Amino acid sequence: MVYDVAVVGSGFSAISLVNNLLELLPASASIAIVGDDSAFGRGTAYRTELHLHRLNVPAARMSAFADRPTDFLDWLTKRGRTVDGGSFASRHDYGLYLRDTLASSLRSKQQRARVDFVKAKAVSCLACENECAVFGLSDGRELKAASVALCLGVGTASLPRLTSDADIALLRRVVRNPWRLGWLSRVKPDDTVAILGSGLTMIDQVLSLRNAGHRGKIHVLSRRGLTPHAHSHVPVQSVEPALSEGRLEISEILADLRTQVRRGQDWRAVMEGLRHNTQGLWQSLNQPQRSRFLRHALAWWNIHRHRVAPQVYEVFDALLKDGTVSVHAGFVSKIARIDGENRLTFRQRGTSVETSLAFDWLVNCTGMERAGIGHSPLLQNMHEQNMLEIDALGLGIQVDEESRVLCCDKIPRQGLFAVGALTAGQFWEITAVPDIRNQTRDVAKRIAKRSTRNISDLNDNQT
Ligand SMILES: Cc1cc2nc3c(=O)[nH]c(=O)nc-3n(C[C@H](O)[C@H](O)[C@H](O)COP(=O)(O)OP(=O)(O)OC[C@H]3O[C@@H](n4cnc5c(N)ncnc54)[C@H](O)[C@@H]3O)c2cc1C
Repeated sequence: MVYDVAVVGSGFSAISLVNNLLELLPASASIAIVGDDSAFGRGTAYRTELHLHRLNVPAARMSAFADRPTDFLDWLTKRGRTVDGGSFASRHDYGLYLRDTLASSLRSKQQRARVDFVKAKAVSCLACENECAVFGLSDGRELKAASVALCLGVGTASLPRLTSDADIALLRRVVRNPWRLGWLSRVKPDDTVAILGSGLTMIDQVLSLRNAGHRGKIHVLSRRGLTPHAHSHVPVQSVEPALSEGRLEISEILADLRTQVRRGQDWRAVMEGLRHNTQGLWQSLNQPQRSRFLRHALAWWNIHRHRVAPQVYEVFDALLKDGTVSVHAGFVSKIARIDGENRLTFRQRGTSVETSLAFDWLVNCTGMERAGIGHSPLLQNMHEQNMLEIDALGLGIQVDEESRVLCCDKIPRQGLFAVGALTAGQFWEITAVPDIRNQTRDVAKRIAKRSTRNISDLNDNQT
């Protein structure tokens, strides 16, 4: 069978795309959702069972649908949750909400497209023609589809200075993928934990450790030692960023924003206003300018843009103040087992001083946005066959403005789309629900247009 659409992945992007496709495709169409994730429909972000893991976007902005802004708030109200639009619901609840959106899309129409759930991973691409792509699945089957959307999320970046031939006693204490929370049950209350990376994932892990009864020392190391800011308790009204005409250097844009804040605007309001302009601004930068942004401004961008819920920040801040958590700025020089101890050695930022810390656990929280394609056998396989091109700055894969995957000759592949953080090279601001839901709506429209044409061609051929 050749499906009209294969949606590869099973997180927010996949669910949101299928919800849109079900609204647009005729009943004669067929959709396969390919994914073997035990947390089907919740992906990395919303699989957590811990209530203290909060959304980092206010509930009012987390509807799964671009054209139904209150959908998530309505869902919360129906379930009796006391959450207003400005507050931060639990991520666990959001995962339940996502699954409910799909269930109700499947129920809501008497006549709707057929949806098959294919419980496997796509591991290779056997053919990728404009009219049909064939994927090899982890269970040995093949899957054919006229249009395909890669909704794979991003993996975790690899750990610096750690090779797989390191001492086995050391490797056993390294948590490469912190999203698999199983490691927490093996941590003893007084163990010393070293965390690489100081962003939202790090804060998640610190809270998870506390919840699991850990009371020992936590060292956090990142290149700049910056940690995320908090959202304010009261919702801020966004203000338009006052950017001067024609100023495109990152340093100039930042200077404009700083001036605006110095003149009295709340920086959070300016950041909120900037969100609507970010994709356009990013697209107007050339490659060296983007590269400079990533090198010099990314750490500051992240802590101002990706803020944590205030109640989460309060817990984290208290741990900083009582010394349980120490944040270091520096560069990893060695991760090794020395004299029977696991040790993390780093050079402190701005000095040549080397510091060495003993640890019981080393946790990789180095973030996702620049994980490249190394985490995905499927993407690597497609890259080896020149079916796609890696983004030059390591931000996933190259797509055009319509989210169509570009192959090595820069020609968009008809019918092959990518959605979510994989497309950050083209859109940059494409990792959170408010942005991805616009992208899935647009991609669904393009797929529906294509599928309707294919289906009518098929019908014409059969008559
Ligand atoms: C901890 C955390 C908290 C976050 N909090 C928020 C928030 O509060 N608000 C917000 O807007 N955004 C938040 N985000 C951003 C979040 O990434 C997006 O909201 C959204 O969940 C991304 O979904 P996705 O489907 O693109 O990726 P993912 O959630 O990563 O899902 C990808 C899925 O694809 C599957 N997959 C991968 N490869 C294959 C393959 N070859 N075959 C089949 N399946 C495959 C994976 O197993 C996974 O299930 C958060 C992110 C994280 C990590």
